[in-house]
Amino acid sequence: MSGVIIGVESTAHTFSFGLVTDEGRPCKSYSALYRPEEGGIHPREAADHHSNLASQLISRLMNEESLHPDDVKAIAYSQGPGLGPCLRVGANVSRALSQQWNIPLVGVNHCVAHIEIGRNQTGCVDPVLLYVSGGNTQVIARAGERYQVLGETLDIGIGNMLDKFARTQGLAFPGGPKIEQLARDWHQKNPKANVDLVELPYSVQGMDLNFSGILNAAIQKVNEGFELGAVCWSLQEYAFAACIEVAERALAHSGKSELLLGGGVACNERIREMARIMCEQRGSVGTWPEKQYCIDNGTMIAELGRRMLETQNPTDLDYSAINPSLRTDHTIVTWD
Ligand code: AMP
Ligand code: MG
Repeated sequence: MSGVIIGVESTAHTFSFGLVTDEGRPCKSYSALYRPEEGGIHPREAADHHSNLASQLISRLMNEESLHPDDVKAIAYSQGPGLGPCLRVGANVSRALSQQWNIPLVGVNHCVAHIEIGRNQTGCVDPVLLYVSGGNTQVIARAGERYQVLGETLDIGIGNMLDKFARTQGLAFPGGPKIEQLARDWHQKNPKANVDLVELPYSVQGMDLNFSGILNAAIQKVNEGFELGAVCWSLQEYAFAACIEVAERALAHSGKSELLLGGGVACNERIREMARIMCEQRGSVGTWPEKQYCIDNGTMIAELGRRMLETQNPTDLDYSAINPSLRTDHTIVTWD
């Protein structure tokens, strides 16, 4: 393989190297997940985890994809948003490789990368993105030369809410898939259940969302004696319905007809089903990439780097600093 772009992802728990070819054909990512022994993510520990694994992950990528440094055309990395210590590891590794191999460096916006890998994988052209991940929950659509945030969480990300709830129930990180399993098992045994059984707060404020209230209420319901599976099912129903409502309003206001799901929570079959039903009802198309491209991955960073290099200069070392609070709409979209 020659003329590939490598992408480095290190915004939070995931440290990942992936690549795309010149034409935008992606390969699998080589990833490691930091799992805190207890509690939530500790940024410095996560950064140490990433540093310790950098050399091993690069070697695997180069060996398993039979790559020589001469095959690598550019290296892209997440410049933000994310946790400073974690972002810094990915940026430093990328700067070092760029200098060692004498190839261009491209700092990219992590949230925009979720859109571009989704467009690459699904063929959608001008979607509304419902970006549901650990740290982020945003509804995004392109307006002119920016991807604008039409609505977002005002407190924690939906994935973070699921992980926190799971942790209170003794379920290890990542909690989202375990909650999905518990909800599915419970619902199979209780197919006629409705959302009044375990009532939770439904919080959509205009185009914005929040998840702290539902998190505390769900914990309370378990403490009151409701079955864990029933609470998991209701938690998904209420939280996902809120996201889908905002996504639908974004479709209506923007006049766009494609809904793209992205972020780790987009691996969930129930949110996909809700998206499918809502899109069918309004004559829109609901679409999402396969799971390996929903969760954070280096391949999506490579894909955005590839698109940026079509129309922009690489990132100068002087401008390569990370930006933990980089906004989705800060990035000027110069590509099609
Ligand atoms: P990301 O931040 O995009 O890498 O995604 C990680 C988040 O996605 C974590 O909060 C996970 O709990 C969540 N997640 C992964 N798979 C699922 C799933 N099947 N259902 C719900 N949440 C999930
Ligand atoms: Mg992400």
